[in-house]
Amino acid sequence: MKKLSRTGEFFMNMYATMRGAFGHRNWWPGDTPFEVCVGAVLTQNTSWKNVAKAIANLANHGALDPFTLCKMPLDELAELIRPSGYYNVKARRLRNFIVLLVEKYGGDLDALFSLPVTDLREELLSVRGIGKETADSIILYAAHKPIFVVDAYTKRVLVRHGLVDEDADYDAMQELFHFHLPPDVALYNDFHAQFVAVGHHYCKKEPRCRQCPLGIYHSEAALRRLAGES
Ligand code: SF4
Repeated sequence: MKKLSRTGEFFMNMYATMRGAFGHRNWWPGDTPFEVCVGAVLTQNTSWKNVAKAIANLANHGALDPFTLCKMPLDELAELIRPSGYYNVKARRLRNFIVLLVEKYGGDLDALFSLPVTDLREELLSVRGIGKETADSIILYAAHKPIFVVDAYTKRVLVRHGLVDEDADYDAMQELFHFHLPPDVALYNDFHAQFVAVGHHYCKKEPRCRQCPLGIYHSEAALRRLAGES
């Protein structure tokens, strides 16, 4: 394996520390790749608990397949996914994705996922309402291709550890991981999930660095600054 850069080593140390604290996260929740895609579209701006309720509604109505969803009236789809919040907007987004899948790929996810990563990403981003985080979640967690998913938690951790500036955009942060880490699906998968865990439990608006497993990577001065003590 290629020798890691210092930043790459730092990332791997962070990852090992989080994994030691939280264990392997076994992401993404979802029984099938199609369910992972649906979850990735529905999870924006809501908790997974609400997404799970929406997916359960779809499953209970026998609608967790592309052909049924494609034919379903939009208001019916919106009603079924209501627990996920912003349900009218999300129904349209989900429908847009399903239409691409059915009309261009015959409803076959494997056909869509057979595209090279860059083409697959471009295809997903061409769907109205699908942004980079959703597209990359589908690529990593449903298609099992190596792309690093960046979310608000990831950015918060990177900024607070001085790895990127506050104004760093999605692509710059993603490039940081791609440049310094090997293109390893299993690593990218669990690394992102660990960031979500650390963000959920500790790296909140008011950081809890002294309790956080990643607190060991801060100097005492940084810990005080982050705690608002100086
Ligand atoms: S809570 Fe503090 S130690 Fe933990 S990830 Fe955020 S900035 Fe780092």
